[in-house]
Amino acid sequence: MNIPWTIKGITDDFTTCHCCGRRGLKRTVALMPLDADGNEDGTAEDVVYYGTACAATALGWTQGKVTETGHASQRERDERDAYARRIISLYAPVESAPVRDQARVFYGRNRRQRNTGVKATEEMAQLLAEARATLADTTTGPARPGRIEDFRRYLVVLTQDGHIHLVRRVPQDETKRHEQAAAAHRRADEISGSVLTVAALDAESAREVAYSDDLTRAWNAKAWQAAHA
Ligand SMILES: [Zn+2]
Repeated sequence: MNIPWTIKGITDDFTTCHCCGRRGLKRTVALMPLDADGNEDGTAEDVVYYGTACAATALGWTQGKVTETGHASQRERDERDAYARRIISLYAPVESAPVRDQARVFYGRNRRQRNTGVKATEEMAQLLAEARATLADTTTGPARPGRIEDFRRYLVVLTQDGHIHLVRRVPQDETKRHEQAAAAHRRADEISGSVLTVAALDAESAREVAYSDDLTRAWNAKAWQAAHA
C-alpha cells in the first residue's frame, strides 16, 4: 500500500491536531499529501498538522518512528535555513552592485563556473530567490527574517594568519559597544590579529562574510550603512 503522506517536519508552533481536533498538543508533525505515484501533491497550504498518535495511524508507523522522522526532516529544514542565511548575508548586499562587481564576487567564490557561460548576475539572483523562498516557507512555523534590514552586526577577531578567533554580536547599547570594541582590539593585539565588523543574518553567516573577499565585505558595509542611515 502506498503511504499517502510525507513528513515535512515537526513543530511546536501548531498545537492542534487536524485529524482528531485535539488541542494543546506539545508538537505536531507537518504532513504533505502524496499522489498515487508518491510525489508531493500540493504546496504549503495543503500541509496538515497531526499529533504524533494520529500521524502514526495515518502512516501505519509507530509513534516513535513518526517522531524520529519528524525530527530528521526538521533538522534538514534547519540546515537549509542556515544555508539560505549564508547566501543572503553574502550576496544580497552585492545585488545592488554594478554587474562587474557582482561577477567578481560570484566567480571569486565559484571559480569553476568562470568562462562556462554561467552568468554571475543570473546565478546570484537565482540563489537569492531560492534562499528567500526557503526562509519564507511557513510549513513548520513563521517565516524567518531574510532581508538586509534584518542583518545584525558582528565583531570578528581574526588571527595573524586570517583565521577566525572569535565572533561576537555587537550590542545595541553604545557604552557596551565601545567596551566590546576596546576588548576586541586588546585581544587582537595580544595575538597580533585584526578586528573586522560585518553584517549578517546570524553568527554562522557572519563567519562566512568575514572569510569573504574585500569586495564582498565592502558591499556588506555599504548595505549596513544604507539600511541604517
Ligand atoms: Zn489527532
